[in-house]
Amino acid sequence: MIEVVTLGTGSPIPDPNRAGAATLVKVDGRQFLFDCGRAVVMRMAGAGSLPLLLERLFLTHLHSDHTTDLNDVITTRWVMSPVDSPLPVTGPPGTQGLVDRTLAMLADDVGYRRAHHADLDWDPGCTVTEVLDSVAYEADGVRIVAAPTDHRPVAPTVGYRIEAGSRVVVIAGDTVPCDGLDRLCAGADVYVQTVLRHDLVAAVPSPRLQDVLDYHSTCEDAGRTAAKAGVGTLVLTHPVPAPFPGTEGEWVERARGEFTGDVVLAHDLWSITLD
Ligand SMILES: [Zn+2]
Ligand SMILES: [Zn+2]
Repeated sequence: MIEVVTLGTGSPIPDPNRAGAATLVKVDGRQFLFDCGRAVVMRMAGAGSLPLLLERLFLTHLHSDHTTDLNDVITTRWVMSPVDSPLPVTGPPGTQGLVDRTLAMLADDVGYRRAHHADLDWDPGCTVTEVLDSVAYEADGVRIVAAPTDHRPVAPTVGYRIEAGSRVVVIAGDTVPCDGLDRLCAGADVYVQTVLRHDLVAAVPSPRLQDVLDYHSTCEDAGRTAAKAGVGTLVLTHPVPAPFPGTEGEWVERARGEFTGDVVLAHDLWSITLD
């Protein structure tokens, strides 16, 4: 059984109802976290999860809205663990550097806690695997494949295809349609895509916002990718800008214009279960 929980469905723009980008995938109780944006540990608690329970963290890319609470995942796992339990982290090239700098940032806190708690006699740690276009993980019936995506000028970026039994879930991250994304999505049951509304962003008189127009999938792009790949359910997340209450249906309709399967605009702690 696979359960997908959209822990955080927000973007860099602060939103009281949408935490930062993060998705939890549970396979028969085994827990895999994809990205770790703002307030991820709070949302994990809301989903009945904890950093200590993670089998592995996967990063799609190193943008801050997808990584800013890596420090909290590491620290909370460390302080709650009865034994030394380094966090396995898989991400694109550059991930080792991000992890090293995050651990360095935590040095003062690590010193305080180790001085205070005699039984906590190890430092927090991570084991890092960098991937681009390969099997990213395989153990006990779960296979996770990484492929390069296109979020340029941010590079490298990857998406992930989680295979367990006959079920397939894709966590695409931030990307425009591309070959790597098509390969990940082929025949998937669930395809989770971060999206942007071109019409709404284009109307905002901010040069900084105009810069983001060409490196995200629109709802229509996500619908076309889903249709081409023959996926079952398209899950829209990380909407830019955050939808005004009552307008969520517009996002879904835009994707439905391109794709006849199920389409959902996710909210925080939305979930879907595949038997
Ligand atoms: Zn990004
Ligand atoms: Zn993002």
